[in-house]
Amino acid sequence: MSVNLRFHLLKVGHCSHPECVTQRGGRFSATPFPALVGLIVHPQRGPMLFDTGYSDAFFAATKPFPERFYRWVTPVSLPSDESLVRQLARHGYAPGDIKHLFVSHLHADHIAGLSDYANARFFALRAEVDAMRRRSRIGALRRGFLPALLPANFESRLSFVEDFPRVRLADSMKPFSEGFDLLGDGSLIGVPLPGHTAGQMGVLFRAADGRDVFLVADACWSLDAVRRDRPPTWIASQLFADKRAYLDTFYAVRQLLATRSDLLIVPSHCESTWRRVSDETR
Ligand SMILES: [Zn+2]
Repeated sequence: MSVNLRFHLLKVGHCSHPECVTQRGGRFSATPFPALVGLIVHPQRGPMLFDTGYSDAFFAATKPFPERFYRWVTPVSLPSDESLVRQLARHGYAPGDIKHLFVSHLHADHIAGLSDYANARFFALRAEVDAMRRRSRIGALRRGFLPALLPANFESRLSFVEDFPRVRLADSMKPFSEGFDLLGDGSLIGVPLPGHTAGQMGVLFRAADGRDVFLVADACWSLDAVRRDRPPTWIASQLFADKRAYLDTFYAVRQLLATRSDLLIVPSHCESTWRRVSDETR
């Protein structure tokens, strides 16, 4: 990976959950779950996004029933200064500048802003899109999907990650062993993280400060829970596509966390990672 990418971690809204639902042995009090987004700037390809977090479209999509239940179960807050479009403007970018949008998975809190980026190509694993196509409106909602958030031309703007060259990861990334070279220059690798959904994907790249960064989406919800070996509870795991695969992925992150103190691992909803990293990647 010789191309260095500039990396900014952005918080685009948050929701609240009792911690005791999301990790075994957690507290009863509601804890904030930020929706984190990666802004990755490539020297030739320009600004790219890993997920979008929440957006106004989320509130529109959860107005009718039965989608309104989603908002009741997970109260969401999106202060206007956290809107992704506004934050991009602060970095000097218009929505139309985004040509690459890497979709970790199709849960509403990761894709609510897709329609704001009319010039973007979407990159997602085929397994994720196939699973979505098979669901009814209610079936989708029960799994945290809101199909109304997908732009009408989503499929024609989609590139399947599996169609990109398969690459072996460095031994230091074990137990993760392979990924897909999404830009053709080795600078950004899509890494399958199955279990949470059928085809969840993380991305791995070297940032301009020389640090390797691994955005792991919902492979785990907090690094502290991974360190303390506290996987999600039975209730939370009912949402997962494949509980066994989820745990394999969770423990793979745990092993990596123990062996690579130099690697910046970023789960999408980890409040402590946000607090630690937000200033360094402003
Ligand atoms: Zn999520």
